[in-house]
Amino acid sequence: MSYSAIDNRYAEMQYRRCGNSGIQLPSISLGLWQNFGEEDDAHVFRETLHTAFDNGVTHFDLANNYGPPAGGAEINFGKIYREDFKPYRDEIIISTKAGFYMWPGPYGEWGSKKYLVSSLDQSLKRMGLEYVDIFYHHRPDPNTPLEESMMALDLVVRQGKALYAGISNYPADKAVAAFKILKDLGTPCLIHQPRYSMLDRWVEHPNEAVQKNLLEVVDENGVGLIVFSPLAQGLLTDKYLKGIPANSRIGRQLPNGALTEKNLDQISIQKVSALNDMALQRHQTMAQMAIAWLLKDKRISSVLVGASSSAQLLNSITSIKNIDFSDEELKNIEEILK
Ligand code: NDP
Repeated sequence: MSYSAIDNRYAEMQYRRCGNSGIQLPSISLGLWQNFGEEDDAHVFRETLHTAFDNGVTHFDLANNYGPPAGGAEINFGKIYREDFKPYRDEIIISTKAGFYMWPGPYGEWGSKKYLVSSLDQSLKRMGLEYVDIFYHHRPDPNTPLEESMMALDLVVRQGKALYAGISNYPADKAVAAFKILKDLGTPCLIHQPRYSMLDRWVEHPNEAVQKNLLEVVDENGVGLIVFSPLAQGLLTDKYLKGIPANSRIGRQLPNGALTEKNLDQISIQKVSALNDMALQRHQTMAQMAIAWLLKDKRISSVLVGASSSAQLLNSITSIKNIDFSDEELKNIEEILK
């Protein structure tokens, strides 16, 4: 049966302005890094995308290498886009990225203009799109001049292949430099995409070169912030409290930097268990509290979650109903995380 979005899809979601731009992003966005590849259940991920859009999640985040195999998530998303979402194109923000390994030879990864422009062309083809809303440089390249990578972003925006430019995984000093180059080129950076969760606080640490942290420099430059892996890939949920479920990200032993049993050994399950108790006192699930903890910071434009089912996504979306924390709760969280 063909998909038709529900009429009241904008009733509950909250939207936040992305930096100083004209774009507003949903508080919760959906990423397709995992769960949308060749091995995943197409029925489940189609339903998850429908649930997202029906609940006001207007932003889908992809990258050239998401799958597996690399490119697989864009192909799967493209199919669902053509079959279900095409009439809603103007209501949806689609992003993709380039930076990681895609094809052999010297032009298949990192940050050359050659790679970035070719990769976006390939992504557009895979998804069957005329343009993406946001094109990101996925990771800083130590060997390509930053000017060249930023000129590539500026170029694709001028060509109309992307509406906005973004950067991901850039430390604060490199981000400041990129913001300046993009601004001078006339294509201001829309957004930065770093990893951030209760278990990974690197964005809060001052960067030696600029004496500020990433949250501060992004805010000062009027750039939006979308944070990924807010649940630390599932560690910040109740799922691993009693072992490793076979259908979990760890249980499935996925490739491409996905969570492994080793990561589980590195965190203290007692800590997660104590956080889980706190979440229950707040009448939230652990996952909801972890997302709410990020959304309490107004500098964050959107929290970019993954989901292996539509029920999970709905659970995550509901976190927006309670993002207030008392000082005592915040103190307790820090105590637990210490
Ligand atoms: P999360 O930290 O949100 O982890 C998602 C996983 O957590 C799910 O697959 C599921 O695990 C579990 N989960 C999700 N919601 C719930 C819930 N409500 N209750 C219980 N468990 C839940 O994010 P990801 O690591 O998946 O990253 C999200 C997105 O961020 C990516 O898809 C991508 O778009 C982006 N990203 C960007 C990167 C970059 O370099 N720019 C790098 C990595 C991600 P399970 O499968 O076990 O059920």
